[in-house]
Amino acid sequence: SKSPIGRIVDPESGVVSFSRYAGSRKFYELPISKRTKNGLERGGFKKMTDIQVASLPHALCGRDILGAAKTGSGKTLAFVIPVLEKLHRERWGPEDGVGSIIISPTRELAGQLFDVLKTVGKYHTFSAGLLIGGRKDVDVEKERVNELNILICTPGRLLQHMDETPNFDCSQLQVLVLDEADRILDIGFKKTLNAIVSQLPKRRQTLLFSATQTKSVQDLARLSLKDPEYISVHEKA
Ligand code: ADP
Ligand code: MG
Repeated sequence: SKSPIGRIVDPESGVVSFSRYAGSRKFYELPISKRTKNGLERGGFKKMTDIQVASLPHALCGRDILGAAKTGSGKTLAFVIPVLEKLHRERWGPEDGVGSIIISPTRELAGQLFDVLKTVGKYHTFSAGLLIGGRKDVDVEKERVNELNILICTPGRLLQHMDETPNFDCSQLQVLVLDEADRILDIGFKKTLNAIVSQLPKRRQTLLFSATQTKSVQDLARLSLKDPEYISVHEKA
């Protein structure tokens, strides 16, 4: 498969490269922080999958992404790495509040995402929280949600916080991720998602990943993405 050639800024040196990383399949050759590289190593991740090769150079430049690749192709790291790098480059700290929101269709998938974030983000100092429905401690959550840097949420619980939590502040949001967007829409969260997106700052990066490119995913993309890179990785015939 072909790799895109993108403008990439190395976070450590500030050097802009147009082609150096194109074609590479190794995580350690990406222009990412040592902290993230160590986290990837800890997770046993060495070589990128096709969707990671195709999307990471664009996502790391701050572009919006509409990415489609089948289940099991490695979409999680295609957004977890750019989220960590964006906050790292912005020198995000505890007092900066919510810097990234990752929306997942189900509690189970959100929990799995949280585990990946904990592994790959282990050497960063960001705080992250799992905001999912069905848990009893919503009031405790309400007190702590503004202290978190990365929120992993199901749509209903996120909107509940937006509506009910005093001083819930996502005005500094840097990166929004809509994971498994086709499943989020299948479950019937279209209105909830629209309500969430309408309350978020317009100036942000949005990464939307899906196993399939349905009409409703494209509608959601039109609402939430700005001049996105369309990245679709198909199975080899
Ligand atoms: P998707 O979201 O596309 O369904 P996941 O991100 O959940 O896929 O990844 C599927 C599996 O592949 C997971 O077990 C994950 O740990 C593994 N995986 C992802 N990327 C890599 C990689 N670059 N190298 C090795 N394993 C990977
Ligand atoms: Mg996934």
